[in-house]
Amino acid sequence: MESCLNTEKDVDKVLAKFSNYKRQYESSLQQLEDQLNSLKSELLQLPSEEPIGKHQAMLTQYNKKIKTVGQKMSASHKELHGSVSRIGKTIDKNFDADCSSVIPAPFCPDPQHEKLLNQAICEHYFRQGQMLVAEDISKEARLDIGDEWKRPFVEINEVLLSLMERNLEPALEWADRNQSSLREKGSSLGFLLHRLKFIETLKIGRAAQNEAIIYSRKFQAYAHEHSKEIQTLMGALLYARQGLANSPYSTLLNEQNWDEICAVFARDSCAVLGLPANSPLLASFTAGCTALPALIAIKSVIEQRQCTGVLNDKDELPIDIDLSASQRYHSVFACPILRQQTTESNPPMRLVCGHVISRDALHKLITGSKVKCPYCPTVQAPNSARRVFF
Ligand SMILES: [Zn+2]
Repeated sequence: MESCLNTEKDVDKVLAKFSNYKRQYESSLQQLEDQLNSLKSELLQLPSEEPIGKHQAMLTQYNKKIKTVGQKMSASHKELHGSVSRIGKTIDKNFDADCSSVIPAPFCPDPQHEKLLNQAICEHYFRQGQMLVAEDISKEARLDIGDEWKRPFVEINEVLLSLMERNLEPALEWADRNQSSLREKGSSLGFLLHRLKFIETLKIGRAAQNEAIIYSRKFQAYAHEHSKEIQTLMGALLYARQGLANSPYSTLLNEQNWDEICAVFARDSCAVLGLPANSPLLASFTAGCTALPALIAIKSVIEQRQCTGVLNDKDELPIDIDLSASQRYHSVFACPILRQQTTESNPPMRLVCGHVISRDALHKLITGSKVKCPYCPTVQAPNSARRVFF
């Protein structure tokens, strides 16, 4: 983060110099243009019998001025160029350019993996609403993406854009269409949208009071789960005439309502469509940003100890990377005996007594044809242990 701030500081300096330079040359050019125009009118006003020498003197003087301004501008441009090239040096100084060495080579040995990666990039752009970029990537990577696959992304994006423009209608229509799926997922999206629509109607004031009363019937469907909030909204109705801003219900006008509805829509619409709330590419990138500094830091240690190859292991990193809770997508189990996370090749095994250890630990504990649980003294047959799936 510090590296980014350092670079940003230098970039800001150059940008300030750029705008300064722009201001300078614009005013100098304007001055030259004004002078040229006055010179032109002066020349036109000169009587034709005037000796030619006078014309020449005026032009030579103007030429000199142009030269001086040109030289000045060229000198400040040179200085500007120096500042721009200094940014490159700042980047080199603050960032490790050689992060490729911590990436196992070859990066994508399996064509199937490459296809999945391209699909994740493509999906990311569809989610961002960058349809043209996504279509181009899909064509170049020869991904077989049909309209069926694209449609949910396009639709979600269109509704989100409307919500950002404070238009609730497309979102209300989407929520109505997917009402049963939203209820199944325990989503409050439908209620929140109607709530916001009701508040927006109340905001109109006296003229829309009847409209708000009629709209409040929509809350019947949500009476069971949201009774308290509905009571508050009905209370606010009493203040529609005098305006909500000066009422005890002024908190309902909070601008954050819109940010909240956008976030809830993005999350719940993805859940209904069976998609993760964040794009897989963004999730991987965020995890990579957290992991990279630690990996680069141990790179030199690995090289010093001449144990290269540690970073080339396919499924495992040489150190634990602690990602935030939002980056955890599934349960993990660490074997209490080997103190290692279980894997496909060393899965968790449930013993007859109910204690769970990894398969490798189980094999190590076998004496003769029996195994004794390390946590309780139950002695049992190793083959009675069962694999556990999280
Ligand atoms: Zn036990």
